[in-house]
Amino acid sequence: MTRSLVLLSLLAGLVSALPTNRADLDSCLSSSGASYLTSSSSGWDDAIAAYNQRYTYQPAAVAYPTSSAEAGAVVQCASAAGVPVTARSGGHSYAAYGLGGADGFLVVDTSKFARVIVDQDSGQAVVGTGLRLGDVAQQLYDSGERALPHGTCPYVGVGGHAAFGGYGFQSREWGLTLDRMIGATLVLANGTVAEVSATSYPDLFWAIRGSAPSFGIALSYIFATLPAPPTTTFFSYYFPSSASASQALLALQSFGLNADAKLGMEMVLGPGQWYFTGAYTGTSDELATAIAPLLDQLPATTSDSTVQELGWIDYLVAVGGEGTIDTTAPDTRDTFYAKSAVVPSTALLSTADVDAFISYLNTQGPASGTQWFVEAELYGGTPSAISQVPENATAYGNRDGLLTFQLYASSSNYAPPYPQAGFDFVDGMFAALDKHRAVPLDFYPNYVDDRLTDQQWQSGYYGPNYARLLRIKEEVDPTGVFAYPQAIGK
Ligand SMILES: Cc1cc2nc3c(=O)[nH]c(=O)nc-3n(C[C@H](O)[C@H](O)[C@H](O)COP(=O)(O)OP(=O)(O)OC[C@H]3O[C@@H](n4cnc5c(N)ncnc54)[C@H](O)[C@@H]3O)c2cc1C
Repeated sequence: MTRSLVLLSLLAGLVSALPTNRADLDSCLSSSGASYLTSSSSGWDDAIAAYNQRYTYQPAAVAYPTSSAEAGAVVQCASAAGVPVTARSGGHSYAAYGLGGADGFLVVDTSKFARVIVDQDSGQAVVGTGLRLGDVAQQLYDSGERALPHGTCPYVGVGGHAAFGGYGFQSREWGLTLDRMIGATLVLANGTVAEVSATSYPDLFWAIRGSAPSFGIALSYIFATLPAPPTTTFFSYYFPSSASASQALLALQSFGLNADAKLGMEMVLGPGQWYFTGAYTGTSDELATAIAPLLDQLPATTSDSTVQELGWIDYLVAVGGEGTIDTTAPDTRDTFYAKSAVVPSTALLSTADVDAFISYLNTQGPASGTQWFVEAELYGGTPSAISQVPENATAYGNRDGLLTFQLYASSSNYAPPYPQAGFDFVDGMFAALDKHRAVPLDFYPNYVDDRLTDQQWQSGYYGPNYARLLRIKEEVDPTGVFAYPQAIGK
């Protein structure tokens, strides 16, 4: 056969395979017991709306199982029909990976798994992955004043957040959300359901703490919770306009190497301004002592700075910025591109790197036509609970990360279309930080970036852990049922 005939016959095979698979999937889903939507269902547009409106993927179907048996059945349906599968929790993936990151996926939405059950003796909590962080926090607090470390946005889903990290201002003391995980109920590629922990499927338990969606659908996580602290001091420090952002960023970097683990903070930069914000587990006097070595290097803070001693839920409401952590009302959406950059404590930013970065923001920011911000989040340092976990103890690999940058630009009105200038501006931010470095910057998988090369995300998210992830993937999902663009083995 000539090359074009081979191509034609392949295409013919594909065209005839697609409707058959689609029909197979529909008929199998209809007998799975789970409710599901397809493109002809009412409510379809809402069901497939991504948080980041740059993405408009068309899944094959969205299933809403209510039990592990139903979840296993829908995965088997997709696998038999040759349809790739993705899990969705809060739908806040930057690259819409909760929809698969491509057309044609079966989306397994875990929103029906929405309970928190706390064992009062051990403090262990079973947390349904359909819950948002605000609801997890409230339910834990209502069940004996328990708490977890996690991010600030109440609407982010715990399913994805704990799958890839989970940073909040308590993480230097308590770890990432995934560091509190001691088990999970996981639907595997063959539709079976595994209870994974350090003693049961230990390889899978290792893998899901950093890369869960490559290995299964987590229906619930078990976390070792902590007593909610009686006092959390939430702060924002502002400085006179003459103060130097470069000096502040360099000061944060050197201070962070040994900063008190009860202190979590970030430097936020935006058009014409920068400031520090964060939280201390303890009183405002204790915060003042802990942060003095940083503030002493900078001009006096201005009078609009705020320092508030708060109870746990009031703190979460304040840091979330939504006036509530209740997620009953619909969330707002955005249209954006973001990159991360993780600075290892063993290869810090030089003065030249920081000067180039700040100068780039000042000169290119106003011309970018975007709504932009940068966060330099303090993760590591010798006392940090994140850094004290060995690099190979979980799939999440950036244990040596001192600062994690988020480089973020939305379209001018936060709605589509997204301008090419936004990509160029964010790419330029990263290049300004990275271009003179001998040691490359790493990446944070929860600020997922689908424009990274395979080599960049594999080594930047996982480092040496990627090889073990590949081996486990080949064992438990050899045909690639869970196959989103940055799935292990893709
Ligand atoms: C407004 C906003 C604020 C944020 N703030 C923070 C922050 O303070 N700290 C921080 O660390 N991160 C933060 N993030 C990033 C956030 O942690 C990630 O986007 C996270 O992955 C979103 O999880 P999700 O469940 O909402 O998203 P989804 O789109 O549902 O899922 C994200 C990824 O996780 C997978 N996944 C979801 N559920 C499951 C499951 N049950 N089993 C297996 N895999 C699953 C999906 O397949 C997908 O690959 C923020 C994001 C946004 C949009």
